[in-house]
Amino acid sequence: MGNCPKCGAAAPAPKKTWKMAGRPDKQGKRMQLEIGLYKCASCGASFREVLSKQKI
Ligand SMILES: [Zn+2]
Repeated sequence: MGNCPKCGAAAPAPKKTWKMAGRPDKQGKRMQLEIGLYKCASCGASFREVLSKQKI
């Protein structure tokens, strides 16, 4: 669940989700991020939020 950065309303479910490889850290380890795209039902703003991080 995400919160709109504009008006603060809660967006219950992402409209779209996808996975993305994050940047490697100092040890060269990468994280896979799951990103959710939300659309606020209250003000219509679109925003992204990291749903989960996973080592790959
Ligand atoms: Zn909003």
